[in-house]
Amino acid sequence: MPLEQEGKEKGFEEFGLKEFVLKGIKEAGFSTPSPVQEQSIPIVLQGKDLIAQAQTGTGKTAAFAIPILNALNRNQEIEALVITPTRELAMQISEEILKLGRFGRIKTICMYGGQSIKRQCDLLEKKPKVMIATPGRLLDHLQNGRIAHFAPQIVVLDESDEMLDMGFLDDIEEIF
Ligand code: AMP
Repeated sequence: MPLEQEGKEKGFEEFGLKEFVLKGIKEAGFSTPSPVQEQSIPIVLQGKDLIAQAQTGTGKTAAFAIPILNALNRNQEIEALVITPTRELAMQISEEILKLGRFGRIKTICMYGGQSIKRQCDLLEKKPKVMIATPGRLLDHLQNGRIAHFAPQIVVLDESDEMLDMGFLDDIEEIF
């Protein structure tokens, strides 16, 4: 499905997003919400839970990144957590959130296995707002008490079917 559908009137302005988020979207070059964005952004903005299914390349990442950015407050806590199965996906999501959130100077932290624990702890000190993590490494940090005051209000399970196929169910339950 094409990301931008011809003849569609609806723009990102209609979601009532904060100025810095709209600016980030514009700067990223997105002019029209993709179908998964059009359908899911209003629901997440209302604070409701949802399950979204769409093919790769249809804008799913921004579908959760945009309402997450819009919901962030100016405190010092990690407010949103995205759990994803692989390091590559974690990095891609982090880049997309950084890109869209650049005008709000939104800091993200990306945590995956194989990267130095010390480096991840140093990054935690910088007070990130959004954490993107693979399940095993996140659990490791939590079980070892390395993340203080961890209570994200928004949690995304990205590629949840794949995470279950990969046997991450126990880890995810433990994280919750
Ligand atoms: P994704 O499906 O989340 O991997 O996104 C695929 C690509 O489409 C990424 O490079 C996004 O930055 C880009 N993208 C997401 N939403 C839009 C949009 N509404 N208009 C144009 N490009 C988009």
